[in-house]
Amino acid sequence: APAAAAATEEPIQPPVDVKYTKLLINGNFVDAASGKTFATVDPRTGDVIAHVAEGDAEDVNRAVAAARRAFDEGPWPRMTAYERCRVLLRFADLIEQHADEIAALETWDGGKTLEQTTGTEVPMVARYMRYYGGWADKIHGLVVPADGPHHVQVLHEPIGVAGQIIPWNFPLLMFAWKVGPALACGNAVVLKTAEQTPLSALFVASLLHEAGLPEGVLNVVSGFGPTAGAALSSHMGVDKLAFTGSTGTGKIVLELAARSNLKPVTLELGGKSPFIVMDDADVDQAVELAHRALFFNQGQCCCAGSRTFVHERVYDEFVEKAKARALQRVVGDPFRRGVEQGPQIDGEQFKKILRYVKSGVDSGATLVAGGDRAGSRGFYIQPTVFADVEDEMKIAQDEIFGPVQSILKFSTVEEVVLRANATPYGLAAGVFTQRLDAANTLARALRVGTVWVNTYDVFDAAVPFGGYKMSGVGREKGIYSLRNYLQTKAVVTPIKDAAW
Ligand code: NAD
Repeated sequence: APAAAAATEEPIQPPVDVKYTKLLINGNFVDAASGKTFATVDPRTGDVIAHVAEGDAEDVNRAVAAARRAFDEGPWPRMTAYERCRVLLRFADLIEQHADEIAALETWDGGKTLEQTTGTEVPMVARYMRYYGGWADKIHGLVVPADGPHHVQVLHEPIGVAGQIIPWNFPLLMFAWKVGPALACGNAVVLKTAEQTPLSALFVASLLHEAGLPEGVLNVVSGFGPTAGAALSSHMGVDKLAFTGSTGTGKIVLELAARSNLKPVTLELGGKSPFIVMDDADVDQAVELAHRALFFNQGQCCCAGSRTFVHERVYDEFVEKAKARALQRVVGDPFRRGVEQGPQIDGEQFKKILRYVKSGVDSGATLVAGGDRAGSRGFYIQPTVFADVEDEMKIAQDEIFGPVQSILKFSTVEEVVLRANATPYGLAAGVFTQRLDAANTLARALRVGTVWVNTYDVFDAAVPFGGYKMSGVGREKGIYSLRNYLQTKAVVTPIKDAAW
């Protein structure tokens, strides 16, 4: 069975060395003030990859001071927008030149397949940087026709020092979504990476300096949430906070921001996204798309299609085929070609997912595939499918963040809209149908930030992404992301002759 492959394999030696393990403050790689380090672990084995400097409040203070100087006195916000554009474009070129090294580092630290990091994620980071580089010299204000003899300009200025906190499931892409727009708008940044995946951001930050970024404009602090993350969220010297992670932590950082200096906060949080298969569906295609929507990135996606709603007329056939597809899924060393699914990020997520599987069984859902760990070491889990899932079961309500598909049956569009929306989340949805009327009705009725019709997980740089309800506040990507990093200033001047 493919899932068993993980058990017998010797881990492949990653084709990369770890070059950067220190904090990046004011353009230099430095130890934590405390001298402390923490281990980052290979999820294939549980072995330590490297010990990384562990930043805490004192290091955040140093990083914010560097960012403040770079913003208040340094060249970055003062150089021409075209020069900033050129830095971001050179950075994109350097990412492509080092693509293999970056992809290998991301696979090693996070357990993502090398095919995914090489084929999709690293190219997307370069694409995002060119997109934001392109914006740098196209950000400008307005002249508005005010009443009275007044000339009114509206200036769009950088917001200042941005604090950014990112999760472990897409370390590089979250780096790009956050750092790209902040730099394009002329800001300085202090980025806190996730403690599970500190390595790739340090590497690409070094390339950004090679591309010409002045010192202090981007500072990277590795460390833990309650220490480094909380210090950044509550820092009086930070003008804006952007966070991606769980809904629970999102509430904490919003509160810390409010209690300190009322810095504006954007939040990208969790989801329990419906994937809706209508009765006219080509079942083979629907099964494949629903499978990818859930299992992509080991199921560790905020927008995973984690409630597969299937119309009763195609339900039985769908369940049989979804089971067959999951059993075929190739689980194994993410460095091996042809592997579709690597290990989960760490022991904590691994145990949490298996607890959810048990809860699914205990609550009466039918386990049709998987349900156990794959192999005997590392954090691999069998691709798992539950049928006969009911709305009130925990596996239909909570974000599992793992390779566990839950299939629910429905009979009408009205019914599935109500059930799909009956969740505190509202991040994304998938709709699978050839019927325009059903697609349009569902696209409008679903209370979510993204609806993918007959496709899923398309992440174009220009398209906004974010959540309704408790899936988030604000939008990233596209022109929407720029607004998060700009202040708006009105300049009012009297004019003598209003006619001219
Ligand atoms: P998490 O919320 O525990 O951690 C996210 C980040 O917040 C990490 O860098 C962590 O160190 C930091 N953090 C933790 N506690 C903190 C605190 N008290 N103060 C400040 N920072 C703190 O989430 P996770 O387990 O790392 O990531 C998985 C979650 O992220 C999932 O729930 C997933 O849905 C969500 N996510 C959402 C999106 C999105 O775009 N909406 C994208 C990726 C992940």
